[in-house]
Amino acid sequence: MLQTTIVGSLPKPRWLSDPNVLRAPWRLKGDELHEAQDDAVRLALIEQEEAGLDVVCDGEQRRRHYIWGFLEGLTGTDTEKLAEKRARGGRYSESTPVARINGEVTRPGPVFLEAVRFARAHTKHALKITLPGPMTIVDSVLDEHYRSDEKSLALRFAELLNAEARELAAAGADVIQFDEPCFNIYVDKVKEWGIEALERAMAGVAAKKAVHICYGYGTPLVLKWKKQNRDWGHYGFTLPLLAESGVDQVSVECAASGVDVSVLAALRGKDVMLGVIDVGTEEVESPAKVAERIRAALPHVPPERLMPCTDCGLVPRSRAAALGKMRALAEGAAMVRRELGR
Ligand code: ZN
Repeated sequence: MLQTTIVGSLPKPRWLSDPNVLRAPWRLKGDELHEAQDDAVRLALIEQEEAGLDVVCDGEQRRRHYIWGFLEGLTGTDTEKLAEKRARGGRYSESTPVARINGEVTRPGPVFLEAVRFARAHTKHALKITLPGPMTIVDSVLDEHYRSDEKSLALRFAELLNAEARELAAAGADVIQFDEPCFNIYVDKVKEWGIEALERAMAGVAAKKAVHICYGYGTPLVLKWKKQNRDWGHYGFTLPLLAESGVDQVSVECAASGVDVSVLAALRGKDVMLGVIDVGTEEVESPAKVAERIRAALPHVPPERLMPCTDCGLVPRSRAAALGKMRALAEGAAMVRRELGR
């Protein structure tokens, strides 16, 4: 019980790409880049294990951005010549640089299969791999090819994600997590087609199926929005829908948001990855603070179902802060485990 994990990304070593920068370009290319990414993944696994986390991942050391890593393995996408779009409902900014869909989108082969095999070979811990969710992909691209409705495009991506997820599970991933921050923005669309697209992506996948829903990375624009936001009711719409779905685990941001954790009671029967680490600050929480945040959720989620986690990816943070936060996460969970006598 109280198994710990992080949402997914970790800062990259500065020999791989600039830390603290989203979408930072690689410092190397070709075989050198590949070797450096292997090394970075091994470090990411070791740091999670040494921190004391239970479920580990590759820290997304092989992708410049959590969505682009998958898109770059497909045909018909362009993550170099970007377009501008009013993404995320304009919540964080009026215009965001996005990848373009400029041709038939297909998946010529597995995207992260080698990555999962490598990580699997270098850890004995339970292994998680993250994929972008269909709704969030659709919101993060400009479709210059199909010009279809969002639902059709989401279902197209869901098919490709499903084929990918099945192969990653077969290669030894214990958890496949779909990142759907847009579930906290377009709550009407979640009901209309978002859950359907997610279910399509998860169907028949022989691993734990997880979904991560947050209020965005700890970047300045997002932090500015969070500071003035007063409505934290989005989970109240999405969690009851997810409770009816085939998802096994739901990751929610609770440390840096103003979310009332009683909403988590709606997830009865699901594992809850509870965000107890703020990814928007360099300040490392004390284990006691982490323990306090875990205790606050215990009246609403049984400890067997509760997984203390970060709010979101740690990629915008320094490596030192990320390491400190992972240690605090593991230590805080251990404190509560001792209190519960297990
Ligand atoms: Zn997130």
